[in-house]
Amino acid sequence: MPIATVNPATGETLKTYDALGGEEIEARLARAHAAFHVFRTTPFAARSELLRDAAELLEADQDDIARTMTLEMGKTLKSARAEAAKCVKAMRWYAEHAEELLADEHPRAHDVADSGAADTVVRYRPLGPVLAVMPWNFPLWQVVRFAAPALMAGNVGLLKHASNVPQTALYLEDLFRRAGYPDGCFQTLLVGSDAVADILRDPRVAAATLTGSEPAGRSVASIAGDVIKKTVLELGGSDPYLVLPSADLDKAVATAVTARVQNNGQSCIAAKRFIVHTDVYDAFAARFVQAMSALAVGDPMEESTDVGPLSSEQGRRSLEELVDDARGRGATVLCGGDRPEGLTAGWYYEPTVLADITPEMRIHHEEAFGPVATLYRVEDLDEAVKTANDTPFGLSSNVWTRDEAEKEHCARDLEAGGVYFNGMTASHPGFPFGGAKRSGYGRELSAHGIKEFCNATTLWYG
Ligand code: NDP
Repeated sequence: MPIATVNPATGETLKTYDALGGEEIEARLARAHAAFHVFRTTPFAARSELLRDAAELLEADQDDIARTMTLEMGKTLKSARAEAAKCVKAMRWYAEHAEELLADEHPRAHDVADSGAADTVVRYRPLGPVLAVMPWNFPLWQVVRFAAPALMAGNVGLLKHASNVPQTALYLEDLFRRAGYPDGCFQTLLVGSDAVADILRDPRVAAATLTGSEPAGRSVASIAGDVIKKTVLELGGSDPYLVLPSADLDKAVATAVTARVQNNGQSCIAAKRFIVHTDVYDAFAARFVQAMSALAVGDPMEESTDVGPLSSEQGRRSLEELVDDARGRGATVLCGGDRPEGLTAGWYYEPTVLADITPEMRIHHEEAFGPVATLYRVEDLDEAVKTANDTPFGLSSNVWTRDEAEKEHCARDLEAGGVYFNGMTASHPGFPFGGAKRSGYGRELSAHGIKEFCNATTLWYG
């Protein structure tokens, strides 16, 4: 894939970049290695000040970087602004809390004495340069979610961003430089995915984190496994959205629409499979279809637009193939199912709702990365949970009910990294974020996220 900015709203190539050559990659790896050996010893107060400065710069740049993101991958301008604001918040959160999250731990006195030690301390020390292979869908947030904790822990970052968001990738390097981070603490590597293996194998790279598709995750994890390096993987999802008889239907419908079409439908934690109890199925389906059909599809730069284009021609083709496969095997198209009329340039797709889904259809098992929802009618909670878990993914899940016993049942049985009751999944710096099953492993955000790239070191004093 060429490294280029191609406007998804028009299909026009706006800027292309040459990939870094071997010598340039080598120079950056050497810089990261050298930077780590100094940066790892900086006190938390100094790291906090740097990250706060970066947050302030990003806050000032919010409108400009939002436009860049919209231009590069098609998200609506209003959601791009919200993404930048979320990054500022996460940076400030880690600047404030990292020292406390990584404070020395003191094992139980009984265990210390039992080991024969006078004292024992667990200290969280950084690992080194961490390679971040990141996707285009939240081009700022996915990176900041990794970089803020990694830098606060004393690691340094090497970013291999998706090839269709090079301007956002370069902006991020520049942001950390302007904030005053020492040379080499955060670098963008403009390279294609074919360069990742050698970079990951380089002994100076300590670990890797990847957000993206399953094939990309499998490739990075298998190379990292071969050279025994830690990885965190955040892969796809096909999150269930359960609507049970006691649900507040007005809220459940309104939230369902947002949960499905956020980011033009291209979010790993978007609700994708709507599993509705038969008592409320007809009412939910009618209102959901009406609301999905009423969405404004169009130019993502316009404030009035709800759903912009998909990020690439290939992305739209993959989505069309999933819908066509389902239709061909008997799914009912309740709305959408086509390219919108009048939007011939750019990679738009209509908000779509499919019903009568069966396990033979690809969309039952695969991730629909665009504004396409599937509806399932179920007879009871057991069938709802069984349907929800009938997927290779396990990222997050949503449940609408006012019944406490049903909540407890779902908290126990849904196979996912999150269960959100009466709301939609949204990450927050204070909570762990990540998946189960083939949605990946490891956690981002919170204390869990910052500790992923730390060496939990036992200091034993005899
Ligand atoms: P990819 O997984 O291909 O891209 C994500 C990142 O991984 C990019 O930086 C990409 O680089 C890199 N990459 C791709 N292949 C490899 C590889 N073999 N080794 C190392 N790095 C690699 O996602 P796509 O953009 O192709 O999207 C395909 C599907 O993936 C989507 O339809 C969706 O289902 C899922 N996806 C999930 C995301 C999530 O948030 N969990 C985000 C994006 C996609 P390059 O751009 O240079 O190819």
